[in-house]
Amino acid sequence: MELKSRLGSGARVLSGGQSLVPLLRQRLAQPDALISLGRIAGLADIRVNGGASIGAMTTVRAIEVSPELRKVAPILPLACSSVASVHVRTMGTIGGNLCHAEVGSDPPQALLLLDAQVDAVSARGHRGISIHDFVQGYFTSVLDDDEIVTGFSFTAPSPSARFSYKKYSLRAMDLAIAAVGVGVDFVGDRCEWLRIAVGGVGPRPVRARQAEADWHGCPLNDLTRNAGGLGEDVAREVEPSLSDVFGSEGYRRRLVRAGVKQAIESLAASYAEEVG
Ligand SMILES: Cc1cc2nc3c(=O)[nH]c(=O)nc-3n(C[C@H](O)[C@H](O)[C@H](O)COP(=O)(O)OP(=O)(O)OC[C@H]3O[C@@H](n4cnc5c(N)ncnc54)[C@H](O)[C@@H]3O)c2cc1C
Repeated sequence: MELKSRLGSGARVLSGGQSLVPLLRQRLAQPDALISLGRIAGLADIRVNGGASIGAMTTVRAIEVSPELRKVAPILPLACSSVASVHVRTMGTIGGNLCHAEVGSDPPQALLLLDAQVDAVSARGHRGISIHDFVQGYFTSVLDDDEIVTGFSFTAPSPSARFSYKKYSLRAMDLAIAAVGVGVDFVGDRCEWLRIAVGGVGPRPVRARQAEADWHGCPLNDLTRNAGGLGEDVAREVEPSLSDVFGSEGYRRRLVRAGVKQAIESLAASYAEEVG
């Protein structure tokens, strides 16, 4: 903390190095100093207790394969399993992934669905930051120059909640052109809990809160029949604004629409099958 406080933006934190090292090699980042978090005890722990606390140095792979997390918050291991390759997941950390704030990253959509809190520290003290405020734009987070992320925590969703994560990319190694995370909980024949997060289509990953509110309480049959309508609402609300070589705004809008539709249809079908 002291080092970061003294050196400020001149020092970069080094976690798994998967994103920072390529930037250093290409001289796109030229910090005066690197502060490695590798030897700080306790930063790579996963603690599960009515929710979970996950240290910033926990690798994406450790989250993907954690039996406890698969049980309490399956969306997070699911989204982590979509990150690049086993190599990148084994080296890259959840803290580095979030702090890098790259468009099309996978874990942020899961953390948004879980309403996670990010823990940051500096020599000035500790602060909790809502995941919804953390990423501010392309490669930009809300962290101050002297702050370091130490971990994340969230309350477990209901055990009956079910999740889907759809990622659209050209190759498995690539970041998402669009990614849609959906969480639903059906009670009887109604959807009583709905969470939708979208990434890869604009400067920051977002939740589709209006669509969530509008479709909350929807009967299962209507939801399944009109899943395309919900997809349309989400696409309109999140307003894809990114156009690049991988896809236009319009293409991304279609991916969001299709992702939500497919997710809802498969989640509703699995619930219907389960309850007979
Ligand atoms: C080939 C390739 C493909 C990839 N594909 C995907 C993908 O499909 N999906 C996906 O989600 N990600 C993907 N990534 C990114 C990957 O998940 C990285 O692991 C992640 O972005 C960075 O994690 P890291 O631990 O390596 O961080 P580092 O590279 O060490 O750091 C990244 C940035 O975050 C800062 N930082 C790191 N930790 C902290 C901290 N605790 N507090 C404050 N600042 C911190 C660093 O200073 C640096 O600016 C890919 C990366 C590569 C190389």
